[in-house]
Amino acid sequence: MNSKFPASISRLIDAFASLPGIGEKTATRLVFHLIRSPENSSKELGEAASSLKTDLKLCEKCKNITTSNLCGICEDSTRDVSKICVMEEALDVLAFEKAGVWKGVYHVLHGVLNPLDGVGPESLTISNLLNRVEGGGVEEIILAMNPSIEGEATAMYLTKQLKDIQPEGLKITRIARGLPTGSELSYADEITLAAALSGRREF
Ligand SMILES: [Zn+2]
Repeated sequence: MNSKFPASISRLIDAFASLPGIGEKTATRLVFHLIRSPENSSKELGEAASSLKTDLKLCEKCKNITTSNLCGICEDSTRDVSKICVMEEALDVLAFEKAGVWKGVYHVLHGVLNPLDGVGPESLTISNLLNRVEGGGVEEIILAMNPSIEGEATAMYLTKQLKDIQPEGLKITRIARGLPTGSELSYADEITLAAALSGRREF
């Protein structure tokens, strides 16, 4: 808590500063910008933020962000449900969809394993993925986590879990390292994404 300011200001600074990529300095600038702005803009921001979670849900199958029980991709009967591409974030699904490089379906983990930040397997949607595979009909799992230390650790953990329940003939692949280490899938261009996908190798 920041005690230099009245509580209502400190509260909003702390809220902004808790967002990824925003430090205390930027958070303070944003709050003072809102103080100077017409009342409408902070009202609009508050309403947009508070309705965010109530309007959205996670797809029952792939855990992608959606407004109905199933996301548009899981509802699309032309998609190849035997191939599941496992993503860190819903933002990565968006990058693949925008590039039009994938005709299978997805599974969104909503993060990667990160013991230092207290993110264990139970904080991610790993058990849902294992259930999907156990349900049958899955031929290939493509691990498309980012090429970071946490992404690699998550890929290794998932491979072990999948091998433990491995139904006959399940292929586990990891997307190629066309992406420089530390770069993020959601910012890669479509040629890089297509190359990473087509160069995937068995894991
Ligand atoms: Zn879905």
